[in-house]
Amino acid sequence: MVKGNLSIVENRIKSACDRVGRSYGSVTLIAVSKTKPVRMVEEAYEYGIREFGENKAQEMREKHEIMPKDINWHFIGHLQTNKVKYVVGRAALIHSVDSLHLAEAIEAECVKKNTDANILIEVNVAQEETKFGLETGETEELVRKISVLPHVHIKGLMTIAPFVENAGNNRMIFRTLKDLSVDIGSKNIDNVSMNILSMGMTNDFETAIEEGATHIRVGTAIFGERNIAIC
Ligand SMILES: *Cc1c(COP(=O)(O)O)cnc(C)c1O
Repeated sequence: MVKGNLSIVENRIKSACDRVGRSYGSVTLIAVSKTKPVRMVEEAYEYGIREFGENKAQEMREKHEIMPKDINWHFIGHLQTNKVKYVVGRAALIHSVDSLHLAEAIEAECVKKNTDANILIEVNVAQEETKFGLETGETEELVRKISVLPHVHIKGLMTIAPFVENAGNNRMIFRTLKDLSVDIGSKNIDNVSMNILSMGMTNDFETAIEEGATHIRVGTAIFGERNIAIC
């Protein structure tokens, strides 16, 4: 099932890229394996997937332990400072940094482990009250504050768009995030790059690609529905 789904998703990515004249290689598919058993992660790995997304620190740690070491793990969930120790040194990219406090905790853990961390700033473009992430207008200020932390490297922006039936309804959200990343990128802030735009999920990844997503986070379309609604 997983392999068949992956092939369908890849074809959908290709079509979206074709529509806007992007190369297929410019989009990184992150297979979001949260709540799913290791055997399904293995099936995706056998297919060739090397980028996996998890939203719980301990679950990522466990899968990281079991699975081959050539995987890039993406931490995409809300991160509490007391869980930072599970994620630093394991995640290739932390997508969900939305406060200086959290970035400082990541910096401290990096110093302790003598390592570095690549992060994205999570922006709540849709202004949903239930979601984490900071407001569009607050982003540059936070980027500047975090940029001085020597072991924490900002690589771009991430957003979670609302669940909508019609993906086109999220187009303006994706466009706003893209515009924001171009704007911040043009400021040439030391230790900051805006090369990554993490946006688009099962319901709207094609629209996100059309609007410039470099990383899409797809769970359901690959692994099937999850049992726990809040995940
Ligand atoms: C669960 C999750 C996804 C994947 O969602 P699907 O709709 O299953 O593709 C992507 N991003 C984040 C942050 C998630 O928590």
